[in-house]
Amino acid sequence: MIKFEQVSKTYPGGQRALSKVNFHVEPGEMAFLTGHSGAGKSTILKLISLMERPTVGRVLINGHDLSVIKRRQIAYIRRDIGMIFQSHQLLMDKSVFDNVALPLVIEGFTHRETSKRVHAALEMVGLRDKAKNLPIMLSGGEQQRVGIARAVVNKPPLLLADEPTGNLDPKLSMEIVRLFEDFNQAGVSVFIATHDLGLIARMKYRTLTLKNGQMITDGLNDDTSGEWS
Ligand code: ADP
Ligand code: ADP
Repeated sequence: MIKFEQVSKTYPGGQRALSKVNFHVEPGEMAFLTGHSGAGKSTILKLISLMERPTVGRVLINGHDLSVIKRRQIAYIRRDIGMIFQSHQLLMDKSVFDNVALPLVIEGFTHRETSKRVHAALEMVGLRDKAKNLPIMLSGGEQQRVGIARAVVNKPPLLLADEPTGNLDPKLSMEIVRLFEDFNQAGVSVFIATHDLGLIARMKYRTLTLKNGQMITDGLNDDTSGEWS
């Protein structure tokens, strides 16, 4: 589903963000990506979502080699990826329904199909009765779940999350991760970047750890010591 082969990234200006990173995430797998601030987590997510290109090496997503992708194919590849952000980036003057419907409207789905899918997505995240609300009327945890519904409404095979629990307390964070587990059990690959070591420690998932742009560990997280280095 995700494959990095000897990937290095140096930003214009000379800042080296990744050095010879190798890993892969299998279809149907759920894994965490962690590391200190500046370790390169966001850069990895940006390479996967085609917001940045590697300086050296290859990134493959769902069998597509991103190094040979044409500009006009980018939207097509991105359709396979549901993105979830820390700041959920909802449109505050639009209803919950309209926020979740956005990706389908962009793709030209019919009203009937859009409505069906939006309600199914809201049902999955437990917000079926909030469709008509404005996001401002919801709690932080609920807003994050709207962001998740929007990310899955297209039924992408891969969910990417960047600090999805950054603004939430431990209990709500756990609920969000449980939601990711539900999607994972339905067959979706899930890749979560987080520096919330407490959260990772409570889950028994594969954890990839970055340090100064290098992948230093990759394995089942059984270490609850809460140290990166
Ligand atoms: P993390 O997500 O783990 O905090 P990042 O991937 O954001 O790490 O950053 C890795 C390194 O690359 C940092 O040194 C950061 O300052 C640098 N960096 C990130 N984005 C850019 C950019 N657009 N231009 C220049 N340097 C960047
Ligand atoms: P995070 O810590 O959540 O990864 P940051 O706050 O470090 O994010 O970065 C926010 C944005 O600024 C990102 O788009 C990142 O690529 C960019 N950025 C980070 N470091 C630099 C840098 N040194 N120069 C230019 N842009 C940067």
